[in-house]
Amino acid sequence: MRSKRNSTDPDKAAEQQRLDRVLARFNAQVKTDEDAFELLIEQAEKCQLHCCKCGQKVERSYGQRTAYCQGCRHTTHVLAPTIFHDIRVPKAWILAIWLKEEGIEISANEFSRLAGIAGSTAQHIFKVLMDVILFHMPKDALKFLSANFAPVIGKRSRKTPADEDPQAEEAEKQRWQNERWKTSETDNAASSIVGKFLKLDEKFSRVIDAAYKLVPTTPTHFDHLHAKSEMSVGPLSAALTALELGYLVKRVRGDYFIRSSVGILEPKISPPSEQTQSAYSSAMEFIRDRFHSISRRYLQYYLAAFWCYSDRVAWGQGKLLKACFNVENSCTTRVNEFVTDLVVNVMPAH
Ligand SMILES: [Zn+2]
Repeated sequence: MRSKRNSTDPDKAAEQQRLDRVLARFNAQVKTDEDAFELLIEQAEKCQLHCCKCGQKVERSYGQRTAYCQGCRHTTHVLAPTIFHDIRVPKAWILAIWLKEEGIEISANEFSRLAGIAGSTAQHIFKVLMDVILFHMPKDALKFLSANFAPVIGKRSRKTPADEDPQAEEAEKQRWQNERWKTSETDNAASSIVGKFLKLDEKFSRVIDAAYKLVPTTPTHFDHLHAKSEMSVGPLSAALTALELGYLVKRVRGDYFIRSSVGILEPKISPPSEQTQSAYSSAMEFIRDRFHSISRRYLQYYLAAFWCYSDRVAWGQGKLLKACFNVENSCTTRVNEFVTDLVVNVMPAH
């Protein structure tokens, strides 16, 4: 395997050197699928080295992921309890892991060329690895609204509404979330959220809560809201303006209104600081520089990749491989169903 990247600026040149180093190590150590499987099975604690039927220790030959039991003649899949259970291109997996451990972040397309595998396989490997990294992200990571990353969202995914812009995915996700919140406690919390922006008396609070309940998750005209309500135009209009101030309602296309999630999510995000600002701009730069534009659906995965890329202590040599054995093998199902939340986690840049 040989790399073909042009290296003009010094950062890229240094990265090219690291890439060459990984490829040299890879070409020397991982010549066959057996070599690759052996490297995985070396992480033995999580592997099935005892017969899954009778518990007797199994005999295994070099690079074989199946082992035969002399006792009961059952065949045991050594990697069965791990995310590597069904993999078909073990060499590519090792290469992908080594690249990430070296802080080399390339697109799945570039990787598919480098490893000589199909683009869809490369994408799957990357998603699983990003899922593994995400799984290890500390609870106290910085929190942002996914909507803040709109400038790098430019690719469609299966979650993009038909015939709409990739950006429409954000509104769709908000609509979905709002549907779920519909009957929850948020209906009565509207006035308390708005109360953080405006001084409210008890009467106006009740009006605000009643108005919020009227606003659906699809754009609805003021006249229609008014017809549904028992309020006169003045108080309803004032309540909607107050709800807009609290980011609970959004005015779209003139006199149409829709629920917005921002007001409810606001308390969950990290307050502005030098640290949040720098984490945000570094993450944005990382995505722009490496991937140009991404789909909203996988935003959180790219933010996990950013952590791996920028934190060379947490994700140095051997760390990602080890982490891969630290997650359940149901990881693949999670990857297939993954959709970025309205609040995303970002680790501060190192
Ligand atoms: Zn057995």
